[in-house]
Amino acid sequence: PTKLFYIGPMFRYDRPQAGRYRQFHQFGVEALGVEGPNIDAEIILLAVQILQTLGLKDLKLKVNSVGCPKCRPLHREKLQEYFRPHLGEMCKDCQSRFDRNPLRLLDCKNPHDQELAAGAPSLEECLCEECKAHFEGLKELLTAAGVDYVVDHNLVRGLDYYTKTAFEIQYAPLGAQSAVCGGGRYDGLIEEIGGPATPGIGFAMGMERVLLAIESQNLLPQFDNSIDVFVVCPGSANFTLAFKETIALRREGLKVEFDFLGRSMKAQMKQANRLAAKYVLILGEDEVARGCAVLRNMSTSEQTEIPIQDITSILKTEVQSHE
Ligand SMILES: [Zn+2]
Ligand SMILES: [Zn+2]
Repeated sequence: PTKLFYIGPMFRYDRPQAGRYRQFHQFGVEALGVEGPNIDAEIILLAVQILQTLGLKDLKLKVNSVGCPKCRPLHREKLQEYFRPHLGEMCKDCQSRFDRNPLRLLDCKNPHDQELAAGAPSLEECLCEECKAHFEGLKELLTAAGVDYVVDHNLVRGLDYYTKTAFEIQYAPLGAQSAVCGGGRYDGLIEEIGGPATPGIGFAMGMERVLLAIESQNLLPQFDNSIDVFVVCPGSANFTLAFKETIALRREGLKVEFDFLGRSMKAQMKQANRLAAKYVLILGEDEVARGCAVLRNMSTSEQTEIPIQDITSILKTEVQSHE
């Protein structure tokens, strides 16, 4: 078995709508080489868990089986049997689709045809033994894992390589655009594109959709844009020292800025304020000559002189205790 993931920008030529862009970002998980429903359950659990970890609570998991090339023809036949006596009263579209693709009769928008479609035989009744056992196995595992789900027979896939498990996770507060994750099994895909017959299952999550969901619940983390230290270096004499200390502090994981333009002390202090620096380290010529620097705590305005060789260790401790 091989487990893979991907993450990155994708492109589509659909009409944009809320949370749907022509360039969007998606991540996905795929597992290849396992036939049984155990991997289906694991993949579904992973998707649910990712969304729960982000703090989303009103998740609705829908599962279905879309059958396989063995049982789908039987469903087609049953559909044709069911619709045949009514064909004369149905719309032109349905009449023309009857032979080619009777499945499409199920989503006709004509009210009369819709009423008729509601009573049509479902794919579930036609599942072969293998598909039935697979679906039962999946439901058993989801129940064992304590995951709530609903079976939705309208959850179908348009392409032939999709088989058995199909699922979707909806986030109800998003309304019409509530699907945040879709996935399922595609046992026919790898063979169709020229590889050896290999079962596979996976899901994809649109990141903009997920962000919309997180944002709608005010769950976006607060970003702290302030910096830890601003290094003030009046005059160019100690520029190399300022640069060296800045780099050393950054290597310790601190957020550090300094003045690149050789501006006046006043201008540098102003910039430190603008960047909301927690500390300012002043490398004044007199202090440096004595082997010292001035450390200013910007919230208390307290100033202390510290030895240059202790700058990194002192600031590291200060910044940590500040948080
Ligand atoms: Zn089947
Ligand atoms: Zn119709």
